[in-house]
Amino acid sequence: MPNDAKGAVQEFRYRAQMQQLLRLIVHSLYTHKEIFLRELISNASDAINKVRFLALSDPDLARSDHRITITLDEDARTLAVEDTGVGMTRQDLQERIGTIASSGTLSFLEELQKSDKPLDASLIGQFGVGFYASFMVAERVVIETREAGSGGTALRWTSEGDDTYTIEPAERTKPGTTVTLHLKEEEKEFSQEYRIRQIIRKYSNFVDFPIFLGDTQVNTVKALWKKRKEDLTDEERSDFYKFVANDYVDPLGHLHLHIEGLVNFDALLFIPAKAPPGLFREDYDQFVQLYSSGILIQDQAKHLLPDYLLFVRGVVDTDDLPLNVSREATQNSPLAGKIKTILTGKVLGLLREWAGDEDKSRFTTFTQEFGKVFKAGIASEHKRRDELIELLRYPSTKTEANSFTSLRAYVERMDEDQTEIYYLLSENLGLARQSPHLEYFRQKDIEVLLMAEPVDVFTSFHLSSYDEKPLKSIEAADLAIESSEEDESLPGDYQDELLALFRLKLNDKVQDVVASKRLVDSAATLAVAKDGMNSQVERMMRIMGPGTGAASRAKKVLELNLSHPLMRNIMALHEESTSEDLVDKAVHQVYEGALLIDGDLTETTSFVQRMTDLLVEATRAAT
Ligand code: ADP
Ligand code: MG
Repeated sequence: MPNDAKGAVQEFRYRAQMQQLLRLIVHSLYTHKEIFLRELISNASDAINKVRFLALSDPDLARSDHRITITLDEDARTLAVEDTGVGMTRQDLQERIGTIASSGTLSFLEELQKSDKPLDASLIGQFGVGFYASFMVAERVVIETREAGSGGTALRWTSEGDDTYTIEPAERTKPGTTVTLHLKEEEKEFSQEYRIRQIIRKYSNFVDFPIFLGDTQVNTVKALWKKRKEDLTDEERSDFYKFVANDYVDPLGHLHLHIEGLVNFDALLFIPAKAPPGLFREDYDQFVQLYSSGILIQDQAKHLLPDYLLFVRGVVDTDDLPLNVSREATQNSPLAGKIKTILTGKVLGLLREWAGDEDKSRFTTFTQEFGKVFKAGIASEHKRRDELIELLRYPSTKTEANSFTSLRAYVERMDEDQTEIYYLLSENLGLARQSPHLEYFRQKDIEVLLMAEPVDVFTSFHLSSYDEKPLKSIEAADLAIESSEEDESLPGDYQDELLALFRLKLNDKVQDVVASKRLVDSAATLAVAKDGMNSQVERMMRIMGPGTGAASRAKKVLELNLSHPLMRNIMALHEESTSEDLVDKAVHQVYEGALLIDGDLTETTSFVQRMTDLLVEATRAAT
């Protein structure tokens, strides 16, 4: 494309991914198409917030009549959204409008491609592709814009949602942007006033600036958080939540704070009812908004809450920040630190309240949705560690499906002579519940916490004791437990001989072979040597890949259940010394069977081959 022809119409081609995205938007999103307007209004509001922020340090940019104006023309089938915001440069048009910016967009794209059902368009706002939502309803979109400040030039961007767009000079004297949608025939309802008024009320009522439809203002511009708690209805709060968090369901709960003292601020915060998509990704960036004296200073103020509470949404507004402060400076200011301390205490207080409720459903939902994030606080929160530990919940061998226990409740259920708190780390709850490590504990009726989320691997390191009782992985070899019943065990020398036999045959594979104290039904299990890593930790490190120092697997201790008939049979066969080959196979099969149950068997072909051989033996004996 000729770049020197600045005076003429220039045509550009969208990148391949962008073309794909546009096609999907136009053809796959069917329900809630009206959210395109929410996206355009939110962009207009962002643009005004940006210029207002710049005006704090450049008074030439200041103006007092910021507004968003919507103009409809039913005959021409157009809808235009105009703002008094920062406007866009040529580069902005090419790079911000013409290109996919965030990785969230790419995951949205994947989501779209995977699905074969019609998709709900409300998803779109959560993935930062808001502007393109216009193409659900428009056959042509025109942006006319002029950058705020003396250097700005007027530009027109046009696209029909196909593979190209154009940029050309335009006439526009006022800074700001107008986005005009030429609606598709079948979407002409969006040029009707009553329809547009309804959509604005529904999705954009709390925008910081007046929205005019013709000559009348449609929204209610007011800082809801500044109102007294008693003056807000549940519905207003809930609508406000949906607006700030871009959610469509009611929140799980809220905090409305008016703090006065060393710092002064108002806050209206919410805990969502569902973890938003992307919450567990590295680049998640949906946090509380920070206002200073009614001006939005930061849209995503991550530093106002600790990482383990980053799912909290809402608004914090303080008059204590100097107005010309930079975003970076707010992050490290002692003021932000103080606000963070207060907010952390309040949020934990709210969670404590929920945990104490007669009806546990709210706290259970919280645990299910945000437990993963919240638990991580154990590693980073030092001051409020004890408070946090009381709020941890785990499934256990004594909880029902979808319910959890606290450490306190576990300890209260402990037998007098139980001195340790037991847990099992596992990849998932299903595997955990089937683990042979649990047999002994089931038989003795000892409760075991089931830590079955990836984050538990890390958090369990930080939970070495509770209420002066050590927390022990039941995979560890040094548990303070008594042996399980031994009446049917092999006689003493036989035992030693059996262990020696296994040691000899598995010499290079295991660290040791010992008699198990904890197996009841299974023949064997693998345990972690006293100073060894948990198998779950080891697995995690292996997943993280070579270079983390765990590519090679630490050898385990094989524990044998000496009361198991298989052990007696193997010994008897070994005594006969005629079928040493069969003994050899049996020993290896016992070992690899234990590996399989731990999810660590890699050589499945030889495992199955050996099993077939053993079945041939077994069926021959039967005929
Ligand atoms: P997002 O708002 O999440 O960044 P959008 O697709 O809605 O994603 O918008 C893309 C970008 O286009 C914005 O980040 C902004 O830089 C620019 N933009 C869109 N609308 C406007 C507007 N009215 N004024 C100024 N810039 C805008
Ligand atoms: Mg947007």
